[in-house]
Amino acid sequence: MNASSSIALAPAPAGDEQVRDQRKTSCCIVGGGPGGAMLALLLARRGIPVVLLEAHKDFDRDFRGDTIHPSVMEILDEIGLAGPLHELPHSKIYGPVIQAANGPFQPFDLRRLKTRYPYIFMVPQSRFLEFITAECAKYPGFRLIMRAGVQRLIEEDGVIRGVQYMGPDGLHEVRALLTVGADGRFSQVRHLAGIEPIKTSPPMDVLWFRLPRLPEDPEAGLGAFGGIGRGRILIVLDRRDYWQAGLVFPKGTYQELRAQGLQALRKSIAGTEPRFAAHAEHLTDWRQFSLLSVESSRCPHWYKPGLLLIGDAAHVMSPVGGVGINYAIQDAVVAANVLAGPLKDGHIALADLQEVQRQRERPTRIIQALQSFAQKRIVAAVLRSQEDFRIPAYVRLFTRIPLVRDLPARLVAFGVRRVHVA
Ligand SMILES: Cc1cc2nc3c(=O)[nH]c(=O)nc-3n(C[C@H](O)[C@H](O)[C@H](O)COP(=O)(O)OP(=O)(O)OC[C@H]3O[C@@H](n4cnc5c(N)ncnc54)[C@H](O)[C@@H]3O)c2cc1C
Repeated sequence: MNASSSIALAPAPAGDEQVRDQRKTSCCIVGGGPGGAMLALLLARRGIPVVLLEAHKDFDRDFRGDTIHPSVMEILDEIGLAGPLHELPHSKIYGPVIQAANGPFQPFDLRRLKTRYPYIFMVPQSRFLEFITAECAKYPGFRLIMRAGVQRLIEEDGVIRGVQYMGPDGLHEVRALLTVGADGRFSQVRHLAGIEPIKTSPPMDVLWFRLPRLPEDPEAGLGAFGGIGRGRILIVLDRRDYWQAGLVFPKGTYQELRAQGLQALRKSIAGTEPRFAAHAEHLTDWRQFSLLSVESSRCPHWYKPGLLLIGDAAHVMSPVGGVGINYAIQDAVVAANVLAGPLKDGHIALADLQEVQRQRERPTRIIQALQSFAQKRIVAAVLRSQEDFRIPAYVRLFTRIPLVRDLPARLVAFGVRRVHVA
């Protein structure tokens, strides 16, 4: 499957299709990804009725990142869930090690940060979402509806009053004081609301694929590896039963990559990270790969009367630093902090929605600017070079200066601004 394509929704209803039933709630959240699921939990635990609509039948789908950063773990700690989450099978990354021509390089080390959780906690996203929605289900006002593909917004007097979704048995309606679009990078809600994101195009695309765990491989729990050089960056994540790999290559050259054939691709993987040469031999069919067309975007407005966008629906983050999940969850925390009171009072003012964007837009813009800088200065340079890549001496020096060396770690761990559950 091509990760850059949007999800397939059920066919749009004919204009005269009958609505089978109507449900009323305080907050209708569209999209059961990390942002939507966390917002549902934070509102439900404050006694606010919530309906969470998810288009898929389950949470098990293509790889979309397994990373729970220290900021998210601190948030979960604040609501008593960090301990239970650690009971799920997981691995930890303290700082990835990149193999370059002049030796290994660790761009950051989370162990130096002041936090109870100085690591990226790796858990399959499907397990994480099952865990969060199981917590949601403990609250009587919460309802999760799967296979509910939202296709229409209900708008009355210029205010969004809910949605219509297509379920397996037909069209349904949810009416709500607030509708939240947490439906990801191809957000249908955003599209229906007529909000256009401002897009930038980072200089790379990523090919994701699995590599088998071989008998001679080390024990599971090793976190992340990387290889860099000859126009490629290879990321390898330990997913216990197998390795999740991502090959970063210059944007727009996928057809060229395919034309060179699988043998050339296997060679390129082995050249970038020789420890995975034998694993790469198992790549024999292009269907084993998913192409992620990397983009970065931000909506000028994250709201309309009665409607809020959060997470990827409001801003797609570049993969640099792996902050997408972190940011979607931080949006959810801020949205819950700001909107729980108004939702309880039964009145959401436009100023409440503006306040969510106000708190989250700046951290988003700053991280996107830093990602853009890293893409132009580092990623593009690596991808342009056909030589073995050597980490420049000044970069190694930077990571040894006490005052500045932990800046990348802090950004990866917490983003620009730590958020807390009110
Ligand atoms: C291949 C890949 C690898 C990634 N790796 C990482 C990583 O390592 N670390 C990281 O932090 N981020 C990573 N990301 C980014 C990360 O997945 C997103 O930033 C994050 O999931 C955003 O969360 P979200 O809740 O906003 O949206 P999503 O996770 O996209 O969730 C949106 C949900 O809405 C549902 N939906 C969509 N349309 C509708 C509809 N019409 N009706 C109902 N439901 C709908 C979808 O099925 C989905 O479940 C990766 C992304 C990709 C594609």
